[in-house]
Amino acid sequence: MATNMFKAHRKWLAVRGHVLEHYGMENHRRCVIKGAIASLPYTSACKVALEFETRFWEHLDTPIFGACWVAGPDYPGIGSICYPPYNINGTGRGAMLGSYISDPDWTDRWIQTSETDHVQFVLKAMKDIYGEVIDEQYTGKYSRVCHALDPLAGASWADPTVGQHQLYLPEYFKTHNNAIFVGEHTSYTHAWIASALESGVRGSVQLLWNWDWSMKQRLLWKSGWVAGLTFSLWIFHIAAKGDWV
Ligand SMILES: Cc1cc2nc3c(=O)[nH]c(=O)nc-3n(C[C@H](O)[C@H](O)[C@H](O)COP(=O)(O)OP(=O)(O)OC[C@H]3O[C@@H](n4cnc5c(N)ncnc54)[C@H](O)[C@@H]3O)c2cc1C
Repeated sequence: MATNMFKAHRKWLAVRGHVLEHYGMENHRRCVIKGAIASLPYTSACKVALEFETRFWEHLDTPIFGACWVAGPDYPGIGSICYPPYNINGTGRGAMLGSYISDPDWTDRWIQTSETDHVQFVLKAMKDIYGEVIDEQYTGKYSRVCHALDPLAGASWADPTVGQHQLYLPEYFKTHNNAIFVGEHTSYTHAWIASALESGVRGSVQLLWNWDWSMKQRLLWKSGWVAGLTFSLWIFHIAAKGDWV
């Protein structure tokens, strides 16, 4: 998306409000839509994936085959631990989510923590839970994602406060300077994939509706020019022939 995207003829805006804020918004810095872009709160999640030599969790006394469980208050800062639901009983290396958390107190803390320290914290919790197998089988490979640190996401999902839906939804459903706003944050249900899909359908209908209207306007405008030009040429032709009288 270029910084001059608001100069385009028609715009389809599917990025989150606070990401949108960084782009040329001069035409949109008005009224309620400005508030929707600037003030809608979002929840942000962090995940830490760890790789092990085997899928050891599938070979415990009580094996775990896929799914997530909430680590609970005994393991603060961890949230849920999740095991892959695919390739069950597969051989070779396996990765699991040692932490998946969206509690704002913790995610605010994690985005200020270095990746290495965050991963070490999660590894320590895994050792407390599973014991020596963690040291024996951890390959040293990990991946941490905190959506607040991703410049194209900025957060995980919209989390409107009381009254914001009532105020902002009617504005999202309008077309502002040829810009149509879609994305989960513009949907009644927000936060889900289904919400994003629903908003896509709504935005497509809105686009076609507006497109049809502007096409009509352009046709009228063009036909006005064509009629005017034809009439002028006809007058010129008659005048040139001297057929006035
Ligand atoms: C950790 C996590 C777990 C989730 N779990 C679930 C779940 O279990 N079930 C569920 O239904 N939903 C879940 N969700 C929510 C779901 O993923 C979102 O609601 C959905 O993806 C939102 O879709 P969207 O199209 O509105 O936004 P996005 O998917 O964020 O799409 C916005 C797009 O805009 C792009 N973009 C941003 N800036 C620019 C730019 N300048 N130029 C070009 N492109 C740009 C981004 O890269 C992105 O692809 C989860 C979300 C997260 C973060």
